[in-house]
Amino acid sequence: MPATIIDGKQIGRSIRESLKPRIQALQEKGCTPGLAVILVGEDPASASYVAGKEKACLELGMHSRQCHLPAQAAEAEVLATVAELNRDPAIHGILVQLPLPKHVSEARVIACILPEKDVDGFTPVNVGRMVLGERCFLPCTPHGIIKLLQYTNITTKGAHAVVVGRSNIVGKPLANLLVRKDINATVTVCHTGTRDLAEHTRRADILVACAGLPELIKADMIKPGACVIDVGVNRVDAPDTKKGWRLVGDVAFDDAVQVAGSITPVPGGVGPLTITMLLFNTVEAAELACGLR
Ligand code: NAP
Repeated sequence: MPATIIDGKQIGRSIRESLKPRIQALQEKGCTPGLAVILVGEDPASASYVAGKEKACLELGMHSRQCHLPAQAAEAEVLATVAELNRDPAIHGILVQLPLPKHVSEARVIACILPEKDVDGFTPVNVGRMVLGERCFLPCTPHGIIKLLQYTNITTKGAHAVVVGRSNIVGKPLANLLVRKDINATVTVCHTGTRDLAEHTRRADILVACAGLPELIKADMIKPGACVIDVGVNRVDAPDTKKGWRLVGDVAFDDAVQVAGSITPVPGGVGPLTITMLLFNTVEAAELACGLR
Protein backbone atom coordinates (compact mmCIF):
# COMPACT_ATOMS: atom_id res chain seq x y z
CA MET A 1 0.00 0.00 0.00
CA PRO A 2 1.43 3.44 -0.87
CA ALA A 3 2.47 5.71 2.00
CA THR A 4 0.19 8.24 3.63
CA ILE A 5 1.15 11.67 2.33
CA ILE A 6 1.75 14.08 5.21
CA ASP A 7 0.02 17.32 4.21
CA GLY A 8 2.20 20.12 5.56
CA LYS A 9 0.00 22.79 4.00
CA GLN A 10 -3.04 21.61 5.93
CA ILE A 11 -1.16 21.13 9.22
CA GLY A 12 0.42 24.58 8.80
CA ARG A 13 -3.02 26.09 8.17
CA SER A 14 -4.49 24.60 11.33
CA ILE A 15 -1.57 25.85 13.47
CA ARG A 16 -1.93 29.32 11.91
CA GLU A 17 -5.67 29.23 12.66
CA SER A 18 -4.82 28.62 16.35
CA LEU A 19 -2.71 31.80 16.31
CA LYS A 20 -5.63 34.04 15.30
CA PRO A 21 -7.24 34.45 18.77
CA ARG A 22 -3.79 35.11 20.26
CA ILE A 23 -3.13 37.84 17.69
CA GLN A 24 -6.56 39.31 18.38
CA ALA A 25 -5.87 39.39 22.13
CA LEU A 26 -2.60 41.19 21.42
CA GLN A 27 -4.30 43.71 19.14
CA GLU A 28 -6.90 44.42 21.83
CA LYS A 29 -3.96 45.44 24.04
CA GLY A 30 -2.74 47.75 21.24
CA CYS A 31 0.08 45.43 20.19
CA THR A 32 0.30 44.02 16.66
CA PRO A 33 2.96 41.30 16.37
CA GLY A 34 5.69 42.59 14.04
CA LEU A 35 8.29 40.62 12.07
CA ALA A 36 11.23 42.24 10.29
CA VAL A 37 13.20 40.37 7.64
CA ILE A 38 16.65 41.52 6.56
CA LEU A 39 17.57 40.52 3.01
CA VAL A 40 21.02 41.33 1.66
CA GLY A 41 21.51 41.01 -2.11
CA GLU A 42 19.38 39.81 -4.97
CA ASP A 43 19.35 35.99 -4.70
CA PRO A 44 16.01 35.04 -6.33
CA ALA A 45 15.40 32.02 -4.04
CA SER A 46 16.01 34.17 -0.92
CA ALA A 47 13.78 36.95 -2.30
CA SER A 48 10.98 34.46 -2.87
CA TYR A 49 11.34 33.03 0.68
CA VAL A 50 11.17 36.58 2.08
CA ALA A 51 8.07 37.37 -0.02
CA GLY A 52 6.43 34.18 1.29
CA LYS A 53 7.12 35.19 4.88
CA GLU A 54 5.70 38.68 4.34
CA LYS A 55 2.55 37.28 2.69
CA ALA A 56 2.00 34.83 5.58
CA CYS A 57 2.38 37.66 8.13
CA LEU A 58 -0.08 39.92 6.36
CA GLU A 59 -2.63 37.12 5.99
CA LEU A 60 -2.74 36.83 9.79
CA GLY A 61 -2.99 40.61 10.29
CA MET A 62 0.57 40.83 11.60
CA HIS A 63 2.93 43.72 10.90
CA SER A 64 5.70 42.93 8.44
CA ARG A 65 8.77 44.95 7.53
CA GLN A 66 11.38 44.18 4.90
CA CYS A 67 14.88 45.68 5.13
CA HIS A 68 16.50 45.09 1.76
CA LEU A 69 20.19 45.97 1.52
CA PRO A 70 22.31 45.78 -1.63
CA ALA A 71 24.67 42.80 -2.12
CA GLN A 72 27.70 45.09 -1.58
CA ALA A 73 26.42 46.45 1.77
CA ALA A 74 29.20 46.49 4.38
CA GLU A 75 28.92 44.26 7.45
CA ALA A 76 28.66 47.42 9.59
CA GLU A 77 25.55 48.41 7.65
CA VAL A 78 23.92 45.03 8.27
CA LEU A 79 24.82 45.23 11.97
CA ALA A 80 23.38 48.75 12.16
CA THR A 81 20.11 47.51 10.62
CA VAL A 82 19.89 44.75 13.24
CA ALA A 83 20.62 47.30 16.01
CA GLU A 84 17.86 49.60 14.73
CA LEU A 85 15.35 46.73 14.66
CA ASN A 86 16.46 45.65 18.16
CA ARG A 87 15.36 49.11 19.37
CA ASP A 88 12.09 49.29 17.38
CA PRO A 89 9.12 48.53 19.71
CA ALA A 90 6.87 47.69 16.71
CA ILE A 91 9.19 44.78 15.84
CA HIS A 92 8.99 41.64 18.00
CA GLY A 93 10.85 39.25 15.71
CA ILE A 94 13.95 39.72 13.54
CA LEU A 95 15.01 37.29 10.86
CA VAL A 96 18.17 37.54 8.77
CA GLN A 97 17.66 35.71 5.48
CA LEU A 98 20.62 33.38 4.92
CA PRO A 99 22.96 33.01 3.18
CA LEU A 100 24.56 36.44 3.54
CA PRO A 101 27.18 37.62 1.02
CA LYS A 102 30.64 36.16 1.74
CA HIS A 103 32.11 39.43 3.07
CA VAL A 104 29.51 39.56 5.88
CA SER A 105 29.94 37.27 8.89
CA GLU A 106 26.69 35.37 9.52
CA ALA A 107 27.85 34.52 13.03
CA ARG A 108 28.51 38.17 13.96
CA VAL A 109 25.22 39.38 12.48
CA ILE A 110 23.13 36.68 14.16
CA ALA A 111 24.83 37.16 17.52
CA CYS A 112 23.78 40.82 17.37
CA ILE A 113 20.03 40.01 17.38
CA LEU A 114 18.46 40.41 20.82
CA PRO A 115 17.60 36.89 22.09
CA GLU A 116 14.04 38.05 22.86
CA LYS A 117 13.59 39.01 19.17
CA ASP A 118 15.46 35.99 17.76
CA VAL A 119 12.41 34.22 16.32
CA ASP A 120 14.62 31.99 14.13
CA GLY A 121 16.25 30.59 17.29
CA PHE A 122 19.75 30.93 15.81
CA THR A 123 21.52 33.15 18.37
CA PRO A 124 24.04 31.43 20.66
CA VAL A 125 21.81 32.27 23.64
CA ASN A 126 18.75 30.54 22.18
CA VAL A 127 20.78 27.56 20.92
CA GLY A 128 22.26 27.16 24.41
CA ARG A 129 18.83 27.37 26.04
CA MET A 130 17.45 24.81 23.58
CA VAL A 131 20.25 22.35 24.38
CA LEU A 132 19.66 22.87 28.11
CA GLY A 133 15.90 22.34 27.63
CA GLU A 134 15.14 25.87 28.88
CA ARG A 135 12.40 28.15 27.56
CA CYS A 136 13.53 29.63 24.24
CA PHE A 137 12.57 30.19 20.61
CA LEU A 138 13.05 26.88 18.83
CA PRO A 139 14.48 26.98 15.29
CA CYS A 140 11.56 26.95 12.85
CA THR A 141 12.33 23.98 10.57
CA PRO A 142 13.18 21.46 13.35
CA HIS A 143 10.25 22.73 15.43
CA GLY A 144 7.98 22.37 12.39
CA ILE A 145 9.17 18.77 11.87
CA ILE A 146 8.29 17.92 15.48
CA LYS A 147 4.83 19.43 14.92
CA LEU A 148 4.41 17.36 11.72
CA LEU A 149 5.23 14.18 13.66
CA GLN A 150 2.84 15.11 16.46
CA TYR A 151 -0.07 16.09 14.19
CA THR A 152 0.35 12.85 12.24
CA ASN A 153 0.43 10.78 15.45
CA ILE A 154 3.80 9.24 14.60
CA THR A 155 5.14 7.40 17.63
CA THR A 156 8.42 9.00 18.62
CA LYS A 157 8.90 7.44 22.04
CA GLY A 158 11.43 4.64 21.67
CA ALA A 159 11.55 5.11 17.88
CA HIS A 160 14.88 5.08 16.08
CA ALA A 161 15.22 8.40 14.25
CA VAL A 162 17.95 8.82 11.66
CA VAL A 163 18.79 12.39 10.65
CA VAL A 164 20.81 12.75 7.44
CA GLY A 165 22.56 16.13 7.79
CA ARG A 166 24.07 18.06 10.71
CA SER A 167 23.71 21.74 9.77
CA ASN A 168 23.25 24.30 12.53
CA ILE A 169 19.81 25.24 11.23
CA VAL A 170 18.27 21.80 10.61
CA GLY A 171 20.12 18.58 11.44
CA LYS A 172 21.82 19.47 14.75
CA PRO A 173 18.86 21.22 16.41
CA LEU A 174 16.47 18.53 15.17
CA ALA A 175 18.62 15.75 16.65
CA ASN A 176 18.58 17.72 19.87
CA LEU A 177 14.79 18.04 19.95
CA LEU A 178 14.26 14.37 19.09
CA VAL A 179 16.24 13.24 22.13
CA ARG A 180 14.27 15.44 24.52
CA LYS A 181 12.51 13.42 27.21
CA ASP A 182 9.01 14.31 25.92
CA ILE A 183 9.89 13.11 22.40
CA ASN A 184 12.17 10.28 23.52
CA ALA A 185 13.51 9.03 20.19
CA THR A 186 16.89 7.31 19.88
CA VAL A 187 18.83 9.35 17.35
CA THR A 188 21.53 8.62 14.79
CA VAL A 189 22.99 11.59 12.93
CA CYS A 190 24.59 10.96 9.51
CA HIS A 191 26.87 13.32 7.56
CA THR A 192 29.54 13.21 4.86
CA GLY A 193 31.83 11.29 7.23
CA THR A 194 29.28 8.48 7.66
CA ARG A 195 30.68 5.23 6.24
CA ASP A 196 27.62 3.37 4.98
CA LEU A 197 24.65 5.74 4.84
CA ALA A 198 22.13 3.12 3.69
CA GLU A 199 23.03 0.82 6.57
CA HIS A 200 21.85 3.54 8.96
CA THR A 201 18.82 4.81 7.02
CA ARG A 202 17.44 1.26 6.64
CA ARG A 203 17.18 1.00 10.44
CA ALA A 204 15.16 4.21 10.80
CA ASP A 205 11.57 4.22 12.06
CA ILE A 206 11.68 7.96 11.38
CA LEU A 207 14.03 9.08 8.60
CA VAL A 208 14.73 12.77 8.15
CA ALA A 209 16.60 13.78 5.00
CA CYS A 210 18.24 17.20 5.30
CA ALA A 211 21.40 16.90 3.21
CA GLY A 212 20.50 19.24 0.34
CA LEU A 213 21.19 16.61 -2.35
CA PRO A 214 18.44 15.82 -4.87
CA GLU A 215 17.00 12.33 -4.38
CA LEU A 216 19.91 11.12 -2.22
CA ILE A 217 17.58 8.71 -0.40
CA LYS A 218 16.41 5.91 -2.69
CA ALA A 219 13.56 3.51 -1.93
CA ASP A 220 15.95 0.65 -1.01
CA MET A 221 17.43 2.85 1.75
CA ILE A 222 14.07 3.06 3.56
CA LYS A 223 12.70 0.56 6.09
CA PRO A 224 9.23 -0.59 4.99
CA GLY A 225 6.58 1.38 6.87
CA ALA A 226 8.95 4.11 8.07
CA CYS A 227 7.95 7.76 8.43
CA VAL A 228 10.03 9.77 5.95
CA ILE A 229 10.45 13.52 6.41
CA ASP A 230 12.02 15.20 3.40
CA VAL A 231 13.47 18.61 4.26
CA GLY A 232 15.45 19.06 1.03
CA VAL A 233 14.53 21.77 -1.45
CA ASN A 234 16.62 21.36 -4.58
CA ARG A 235 16.19 23.00 -7.97
CA VAL A 236 16.85 20.59 -10.83
CA ASP A 237 16.74 21.26 -14.57
CA ALA A 238 13.40 20.56 -16.20
CA PRO A 239 13.65 21.80 -19.79
CA ASP A 240 10.08 20.71 -20.52
CA THR A 241 8.65 23.16 -17.92
CA LYS A 242 7.96 26.88 -18.36
CA LYS A 243 10.50 27.86 -15.67
CA GLY A 244 13.11 25.40 -16.91
CA TRP A 245 13.48 23.89 -13.42
CA ARG A 246 11.47 22.08 -10.79
CA LEU A 247 11.85 21.45 -7.07
CA VAL A 248 12.75 18.01 -5.76
CA GLY A 249 13.52 16.85 -2.26
CA ASP A 250 16.35 14.75 -0.86
CA VAL A 251 14.17 11.64 -1.26
CA ALA A 252 13.33 9.87 -4.54
CA PHE A 253 9.63 10.40 -3.84
CA ASP A 254 7.95 8.30 -6.57
CA ASP A 255 9.69 5.08 -5.47
CA ALA A 256 9.89 5.94 -1.75
CA VAL A 257 6.12 6.36 -1.55
CA GLN A 258 5.77 2.62 -2.31
CA VAL A 259 7.94 1.64 0.69
CA ALA A 260 7.38 4.26 3.40
CA GLY A 261 4.44 4.24 5.81
CA SER A 262 4.10 8.02 5.63
CA ILE A 263 6.07 10.66 3.75
CA THR A 264 6.20 14.43 3.25
CA PRO A 265 6.03 15.75 -0.31
CA VAL A 266 8.27 18.50 -1.73
CA PRO A 267 6.87 21.10 -1.99
CA GLY A 268 4.00 21.08 0.51
CA GLY A 269 5.60 19.09 3.34
CA VAL A 270 8.13 20.70 5.69
CA GLY A 271 8.23 24.14 3.97
CA PRO A 272 4.80 25.40 5.11
CA LEU A 273 5.65 24.40 8.70
CA THR A 274 8.88 26.42 8.66
CA ILE A 275 6.96 29.62 7.86
CA THR A 276 4.20 28.72 10.31
CA MET A 277 6.64 28.23 13.20
CA LEU A 278 8.22 31.59 12.40
CA LEU A 279 4.81 33.23 12.84
CA PHE A 280 4.26 31.13 15.99
CA ASN A 281 7.54 32.39 17.49
CA THR A 282 6.77 36.00 16.51
CA VAL A 283 3.37 35.84 18.23
CA GLU A 284 5.06 34.40 21.32
CA ALA A 285 7.72 37.15 21.24
CA ALA A 286 4.94 39.78 21.06
CA GLU A 287 3.09 38.14 23.98
CA LEU A 288 6.27 38.23 26.06
CA ALA A 289 6.92 41.88 25.13
CA CYS A 290 3.31 42.89 25.90
CA GLY A 291 3.07 41.06 29.22
CA LEU A 292 0.62 38.38 28.02
CA ARG A 293 2.99 35.59 29.06
P1 NAP B 1 23.64 22.34 4.65
O1 NAP B 1 24.02 23.43 5.57
O2 NAP B 1 24.25 22.29 3.30
O3 NAP B 1 23.94 20.95 5.38
C1 NAP B 1 23.82 19.73 4.72
C2 NAP B 1 24.21 18.62 5.66
O4 NAP B 1 24.05 17.39 4.96
C3 NAP B 1 25.66 18.67 6.13
O5 NAP B 1 25.72 18.38 7.49
C4 NAP B 1 26.35 17.61 5.29
O6 NAP B 1 27.40 16.93 5.99
C5 NAP B 1 25.23 16.62 5.07
N1 NAP B 1 25.44 15.86 3.83
C6 NAP B 1 25.68 16.35 2.59
N2 NAP B 1 25.84 15.34 1.72
C7 NAP B 1 25.68 14.20 2.41
C8 NAP B 1 25.75 12.83 2.06
N3 NAP B 1 26.00 12.41 0.81
N4 NAP B 1 25.54 11.91 3.03
C9 NAP B 1 25.29 12.29 4.31
N5 NAP B 1 25.22 13.59 4.69
C10 NAP B 1 25.41 14.53 3.75
O7 NAP B 1 22.07 22.31 4.40
P2 NAP B 1 20.82 22.80 5.31
O8 NAP B 1 20.83 24.27 5.40
O9 NAP B 1 20.73 21.98 6.54
O10 NAP B 1 19.63 22.40 4.34
C11 NAP B 1 19.46 21.07 3.90
C12 NAP B 1 18.36 21.03 2.85
O11 NAP B 1 17.14 21.43 3.45
C13 NAP B 1 18.56 21.97 1.68
O12 NAP B 1 18.02 21.38 0.51
C14 NAP B 1 17.74 23.18 2.06
O13 NAP B 1 17.29 23.92 0.92
C15 NAP B 1 16.60 22.53 2.75
N6 NAP B 1 15.91 23.36 3.73
C16 NAP B 1 14.56 23.37 3.67
C17 NAP B 1 13.85 24.07 4.60
C18 NAP B 1 12.36 24.06 4.52
O14 NAP B 1 11.72 24.83 5.19
N7 NAP B 1 11.77 23.17 3.75
C19 NAP B 1 14.51 24.80 5.60
C20 NAP B 1 15.90 24.75 5.66
C21 NAP B 1 16.59 24.00 4.72
P3 NAP B 1 28.76 17.66 6.49
O15 NAP B 1 28.39 18.37 7.75
O16 NAP B 1 29.68 16.53 6.72
O17 NAP B 1 29.16 18.58 5.38
